[in-house]
Amino acid sequence: MDFQISNRIQTIVGMIMLGAEGQGFVMAQERLGPGRIHHCMRWLGVCRRAFDLMCRRANSRVVSPCGETLGSRQIVQGWIAESAAELESARLLTLHSAWQIDSVGAAAARDSIAMIKFVVANTMGRIVDRALQVHGGLGMTDDTILAWYYRHERAARIYDGADEVHKTALARRILKTYA
Ligand SMILES: Cc1cc2nc3c(=O)[nH]c(=O)nc-3n(C[C@H](O)[C@H](O)[C@H](O)COP(=O)(O)OP(=O)(O)OC[C@H]3O[C@@H](n4cnc5c(N)ncnc54)[C@H](O)[C@@H]3O)c2cc1C
Repeated sequence: MDFQISNRIQTIVGMIMLGAEGQGFVMAQERLGPGRIHHCMRWLGVCRRAFDLMCRRANSRVVSPCGETLGSRQIVQGWIAESAAELESARLLTLHSAWQIDSVGAAAARDSIAMIKFVVANTMGRIVDRALQVHGGLGMTDDTILAWYYRHERAARIYDGADEVHKTALARRILKTYA
């Protein structure tokens, strides 16, 4: 290749390079920690929307000739109470992680970040599943957003580190403190 052209290409590549050569993996790792909490915040929003849909459906769906609604059934009340408690727990754990990232940095907050990654993903799975169940056949259609959540958000337990990988890493660090 002509020396001048090669020089120009190197200059252009140099201009668009982010960070130092050979530091790409480190940079990606540094971004992943804080990035995971953004997934969790979005998943909390999904939980809230699914929860709202579940409660509205429980209040409006009549299931007996005397006008009783789904919400009058204890099993549905149980799903609503469990979902409310799990959502609040996941929200507070995420808030705590955010506080840790702000106060001690993402590296020191990695246990907390690992916890929210699998706790919030699983909380979302359970709440979306209950909301869909309360909607019955309607929940399987695209007339509500629940069927889409059910399929699309299932990936939360796989991407950005599968649940099992986060649990293994977290447990290893915990066990080290007992060694
Ligand atoms: C919607 C979506 C978006 C994605 N976005 C990105 C992206 O932006 N960038 C990117 O790089 N990748 C992305 N991925 C890929 C994702 O990171 C991988 O799918 C994930 O790491 C799992 O790898 P795998 O699919 O090869 O499954 P495998 O590695 O074959 O794992 C299969 C299953 O085995 C279990 N498992 C795996 N490893 C372990 C272990 N060490 N210990 C115990 N159990 C284990 C888990 O249950 C896992 O789900 C995305 C995936 C999906 C589904």
